[in-house]
Amino acid sequence: MLLRVEVSREIRLGLEGHDVVGFEHSAMVAERELRPAIWAGLLEAYQEAVLDRVCGLRRSPLSRGRRAPFMCPACGSERGFRRRGRRSRRRVLLTRLGRMELTLAQVACRCGRRFAPLLQLLGVDGGSRVSPGLARRAAELATELPFARAAAQLLTETGHGVSTATVRRIVARGGARCDLTVPRDDLHDVPAMLIDGTRVPAGPRHGRRARSARGVEVNIACAVLGRDITGRRPRAQIELVGASVAEPWLGLHDAVRGPRDIGIVVTDGDNGIEGLLDRALPEVPRQHCTFHVQHNIRLRLWQDGVAFKDRDALADRLLAPVLSARTRGESLLALEESIALAQDHGFDYAAQHLRNVGRQLSTWKAVRHSRRPWRMSGRSRPEHTTSLLERTMREVNRRVDPPGNRWLVPGVRAMVNLLLARRFDHPSWKDLWQDAGTVRVWAGFRESTG
Ligand SMILES: [Zn+2]
Repeated sequence: MLLRVEVSREIRLGLEGHDVVGFEHSAMVAERELRPAIWAGLLEAYQEAVLDRVCGLRRSPLSRGRRAPFMCPACGSERGFRRRGRRSRRRVLLTRLGRMELTLAQVACRCGRRFAPLLQLLGVDGGSRVSPGLARRAAELATELPFARAAAQLLTETGHGVSTATVRRIVARGGARCDLTVPRDDLHDVPAMLIDGTRVPAGPRHGRRARSARGVEVNIACAVLGRDITGRRPRAQIELVGASVAEPWLGLHDAVRGPRDIGIVVTDGDNGIEGLLDRALPEVPRQHCTFHVQHNIRLRLWQDGVAFKDRDALADRLLAPVLSARTRGESLLALEESIALAQDHGFDYAAQHLRNVGRQLSTWKAVRHSRRPWRMSGRSRPEHTTSLLERTMREVNRRVDPPGNRWLVPGVRAMVNLLLARRFDHPSWKDLWQDAGTVRVWAGFRESTG
């Protein structure tokens, strides 16, 4: 339904003073008040045009009505609406254009429900005073700054103060609708999938369990599609496959099966991830992150009672032959030798760790000579670390881990979902607030002749 409305309004500008010092500031203040009123008028004209079309002209209403571009919030019906006048109180809507006051026209559905279609047409959440554009900006800011500072920043950017509580509510609402476990259908061949988890502080703030709450897991699966090495700093092309907060790894089952094919999966060897892969992607070769293993083997050597000063050299002695072998076969031989060495010296934890993950340290060397779709621009061999996820993990932790703060699980889930969705420009982020469309708006002075 293409409608075209035009309104013309007369603008009166005035000035009084002994001089024009401070003109700029005064004009900006005056214009800021004018701007939302101008655009509110255009929206109200559009609202009239829609209702003329759907319900018929005011004096000659259509008996059945035409199909509407909005629907009844109670019964979902799309036709059969009648005009029911205007709301007596003007509705305040905070937008990036300023604080708009709209006179809302009401319609009644055959089911008896009365509602104002304009807010629905604008994509405003039920009961919210915030426009979709402003909500998106608030959520963007809140994923980078503490809530209070996000609200302050929004004030400087848009000129109106949204309370900290409102920003918090926008994040809670948006985050609850932002489901990152839904499989994406726009990923085809993925050279490497990286899966890793981090822990964020969340849980009861008070009571018996508060002290022992260890936080919740954030699980992330990403697709590496290529590396751009033309710039000064190489940049990875990386997409979010799926993520979940405080849920078992199996929650990502459908998401990780989204891509058509995957060259190699790189993980840090967490048991939960192994279980997920056994079920969801049993046929994809698994690589244990060659970066994580160095840290983990030092940890095992510590458990074995090896002195700090000896740990690095010993870890290197055990791992270097396995990691630097030319082929997978040679790497497996080196692994046997390292396990024997560890065992002979009584490093039982280290030996066990090598037994658990060792075979997956050289998977990429075999994949390299296979027909799997591991190739990508800017890389000559399959991905074998999860390092590309580290920065993302740090960003998550920076936002949700301020000292002395503790989140409740739904709050941290909403925040992490939005942060990841925004950072990766995940499809769910674009769908959250209906802020992009094809409407064309114009403004200008009318040339007067004469
Ligand atoms: Zn209805």
